Amino acid sequence: MQYSEIMIRYGELSTKGKNRMRFINKLRKNIQEALAIYPEVTVYFDRDRGHVYLHGADYQEVSESLKKIFGIQNFAPSYRIEKTVPALKEAVQTIMQNIYKEGMTFKVAARRSDHSFELDSRDLNQVLGDAVFDVLPNVQVQMKKPDITLRVEIRSDAAYISHEEIRGAGGLPVGTAGKGMLMLSGGIDSPVAGYLALKRGVDIEAVHFASPPYTSPGALKKAQDLTRKLTAFGGNITFIEVPFTEIQEEIKEKAPEAYLMTLTRRFMMRITDRIREERGGLVIINGESLGQVASQTMESMQAINAVTNTPVIRPVVTMDKLEIIEIAEKIDTFNISIQPFEDCCTIFAPDRPKTNPKIKNVEQYEQRLDVEGLVERAVAGVRILEITALEDESDDLSRLIDNLL
Ligand code: ATP
Ligand code: MG
Repeated sequence: MQYSEIMIRYGELSTKGKNRMRFINKLRKNIQEALAIYPEVTVYFDRDRGHVYLHGADYQEVSESLKKIFGIQNFAPSYRIEKTVPALKEAVQTIMQNIYKEGMTFKVAARRSDHSFELDSRDLNQVLGDAVFDVLPNVQVQMKKPDITLRVEIRSDAAYISHEEIRGAGGLPVGTAGKGMLMLSGGIDSPVAGYLALKRGVDIEAVHFASPPYTSPGALKKAQDLTRKLTAFGGNITFIEVPFTEIQEEIKEKAPEAYLMTLTRRFMMRITDRIREERGGLVIINGESLGQVASQTMESMQAINAVTNTPVIRPVVTMDKLEIIEIAEKIDTFNISIQPFEDCCTIFAPDRPKTNPKIKNVEQYEQRLDVEGLVERAVAGVRILEITALEDESDDLSRLIDNLL
């Protein structure tokens, strides 16, 4: 016997009152996008269940994908069975013979949404339980916490049986909390910050600052690959590449070395905020962690944050590096993050950045620059790409062409 579908239970979601349909629709779309890597799989959602039809796809692989998607409480691979009593009896017998081991307890938990079916749920429990005893006379029934629960559902199209329940990622479906702009470098911290924001339902768009020719196409691809990893948790993510070369050259030329970092970050923050406003985002998310590097002292954060009133969410702010790495490994971004491509900030980084920048000084240095013009040109020059779970070969092709030009 082969699993035909995976049945998804929303659990907690169902309690969300009026928002329920909105939550369910988001979850369905997210699941469809994350499962796009299995072309044969189709997804259908009704009021209280989601159905992922396998059409021959490997249920274990699809289960691994489902485990990552936020907003799923649990799910169960299921067999589709012809809706007749003899077929159901034969199915429970076969299933139990396959999974039963000496001493295991079981129960049948039937329910029917098709009320025209000849047996009601109590009768079904009885008849199917008896069918199991016919082939496994020593098996014990246990109502409370049995080893095996055979869930039988009589639906309008067919009957479905499941016995394995797999825990989902929990959290909220991505997109139900509104949109936030993730400042995504190629480092370890910002993808983890993005993941944690996704978990609470935030629909993220990735903003990446690139400074070609100082930064390589490899560094850009790395940021896009990290974004692709994040699509596993809630579907497609918009990737926004910001041209940052002019700004970095200007700062380097006109400001004192010790303030390069602070000035650079303030520009990143301003530009991200401008893009946020244009695209209807509500917050900015970054990977800052208190005390990790010079730009992440509280004084620095204050100087950098001073350019905007928009809430800046820092999901990893109080975590130790090792705690962040643990999550990066779990979400499979770590090995990409440690690839040796120079980031725009590493290249222009001073040996000794100021750890306690003074806002008064920062503002004075900025007067030497055409801040508004630089920001506007950067925002006007962004390149926007939709990153999906599937790696698109045309991405590589267009990158190749860009590099040749
Ligand atoms: P990460 O590991 O995320 O790169 P980090 O520890 O290297 O972080 P910084 O280099 O100080 O820290 O960067 C702090 C935050 O600023 C990053 O987490 C990220 O959110 C943002 N940031 C840095 N560089 C870039 C970039 N090139 N594009 C977009 N955001 C960036
Ligand atoms: Mg970094």
